Amino acid sequence: MIVMRTNATEEEIAGAISYVENRGLRAHLSRGAERTVIGIVGDIRRVQKEAIETLPGVDHVVRISRPYKLASREFQPDNTEFNINGVRVGSNQILIIAGPCSVESREQLLETAHAVREAGGHALRGGAFKPRTSPYAFQGMGEAGLEILAEARQITGLPIVTEVMAPEQVPLVAKHADVLQIGARNMQNYNLLHAVGQTERAVLLKRGMSATAEELLMASEYVLSNGNRRVILCERGIRTFETATRNTTDINAVPVLKSQTHLPVFLDPSHSTGKTEYVTAIARAAVAAGADGLIVEIHPHPEDAVSDGAQSMRPEQFADMVRQVKAIAEAIGRTVPEHKREIA
Ligand code: PEP
Ligand code: MN
Repeated sequence: MIVMRTNATEEEIAGAISYVENRGLRAHLSRGAERTVIGIVGDIRRVQKEAIETLPGVDHVVRISRPYKLASREFQPDNTEFNINGVRVGSNQILIIAGPCSVESREQLLETAHAVREAGGHALRGGAFKPRTSPYAFQGMGEAGLEILAEARQITGLPIVTEVMAPEQVPLVAKHADVLQIGARNMQNYNLLHAVGQTERAVLLKRGMSATAEELLMASEYVLSNGNRRVILCERGIRTFETATRNTTDINAVPVLKSQTHLPVFLDPSHSTGKTEYVTAIARAAVAAGADGLIVEIHPHPEDAVSDGAQSMRPEQFADMVRQVKAIAEAIGRTVPEHKREIA
């Protein structure tokens, strides 16, 4: 990492970047409140620390000690912030994403989208391509599901969060989605991480159910090193010996990740518990622990849901959860903003 002098000029910054790029390395610029740094990724044997330190405007060169580089707080001390639907992710504002596990029909999705909006949710989730444990289970509506999601965005103004399962699906899903979700089962699908890293879409990267926090950060590094800086990390429960819940919410992961990385950290209390009755409590806990957002499953008729009905809230339960989460947010000096239409 090249740390520029506080008074370095734009020419000097550009000069340091071309020096690195001309030697076949990739440069990642980060402008912090206090200093500008340039992350160098690639075969660093091609450059010498002492040589870089002689370039005009360069203060010094340091090696980032963590195995993940661009994701680390060493590289970027300030939180990463970006807009989704006029809500600033990674800021003081808490973003709530809600919707069904799967897009099942136009009626189901539009009804849910209206409920999300009315309750104060900020984005609509819904799987069109579903990673199912059984090959005989419903695999999702595919492209038809994406078209329904796009229609729901048109009607409600809610941005769309939907899963992409394979690199070859990325262009199609990116055409319709505002946020590309990488599922827990795909957290270490490196070809997929490369592919979403090359898009302009924000990425919601879910933690693998047996992955450590460090492995999640390494996965995010694949997206960041391809040039896509808009990554949200998502804790969604891990496998433990406990069978009372579908997974075990690793609430520790929230402050752990927040201390190691500048990326926004979300929590999915639906998959982390697997049972509707526990979702609101864990949503409150997530926000209290410092999560920047939530992603939850809701369904107008959970008893008829084709997937994850047991963990899906009804719209009125969701509205109640939003109220409770707002109270927790306010207690810790954060806000759950009112819905805004603009999408950035
Ligand atoms: C989902 O969000 O419906 C999903 C499949 O989540 P995960 O990848 O966390 O299991
Ligand atoms: Mn699900």
